[in-house]
Amino acid sequence: MRIVRTIAQLRKEVAGARARGSEVGMVPTMGALHDGHLSLVHAARADQGFVVMSIFVNPTQFTEAEDLEAYPRQEASDAALAEAAGVDVIFAPTAAEMYPEGFATTVHVGGSITERLEGETRGAAHFDGVATVVSKLLLACMPDRAYFGEKDAQQVLVVSRMVRDLGIPVRIVPCPTSRDEDGLARSSRNARLSEGERARALAIPRALGAAAAALASGECEAEAIREAAGRELAAEDLVAEYLAIVDPDTLDAVERVDAPALLAIAVRVGEVRLIDNAVLTP
Ligand code: AMP
Repeated sequence: MRIVRTIAQLRKEVAGARARGSEVGMVPTMGALHDGHLSLVHAARADQGFVVMSIFVNPTQFTEAEDLEAYPRQEASDAALAEAAGVDVIFAPTAAEMYPEGFATTVHVGGSITERLEGETRGAAHFDGVATVVSKLLLACMPDRAYFGEKDAQQVLVVSRMVRDLGIPVRIVPCPTSRDEDGLARSSRNARLSEGERARALAIPRALGAAAAALASGECEAEAIREAAGRELAAEDLVAEYLAIVDPDTLDAVERVDAPALLAIAVRVGEVRLIDNAVLTP
């Protein structure tokens, strides 16, 4: 496995793989790898012979300076995990490589899919940062497929729309959320939870389960399902930044769950902001 730092080096590696007849898959990450990231690598490996992982803690998608500073960085152990999972090349650029002096371009995806949920709570700059960095990463690598986790369901929606709108020739492949045995969605931020906070955070998967159970018992009213989920959070004294049942394509709130709907949750547990979601299927 090679680690490259520049777009020129990455293009050379990818051109070599293509000359050998390989298709190319890409897994964009911010590092601090866990089994959730590695599940994307496994999906990529199953689809093609050459897998690129990018590791870049993108400053422009953080809307809080503390969150950016506290974000875990551990390149050496990440490289070992990536190699064992079958990554061929890690692209780990510096901020100056991604945003050279005078960088003046923003990719903005408009409309409800960026305004709701994360866009509303973290601010519009978040998805501008995501769309800009992902378009730059995709153009640097030009993979056949790029793999994104459904844990960040809104991100999948935004990236898919961007790729479609701009005609970037890549297939976006959504991958299921990987969870710890107790149900907590794997996240690089989980490492910052104390033992007590981690126990309280289990109210998040319980809330998703309570919503599914309410629906399964015949409850279709979104408000009642939301309340069932909210009770689980309240039992651990957690206040949701949002707890929303929305149309999976537009992210508009729905009143009745009579078609598949996305239940999305953002919660702060102590200092750590966690998100999770599930599709509610009647
Ligand atoms: P991040 O490093 O948090 O930006 O995540 C990089 C990619 O891994 C994104 O596409 C995430 O959606 C995905 N990812 C993060 N956590 C998980 C998880 N628990 N299961 C599946 N994919 C994940």
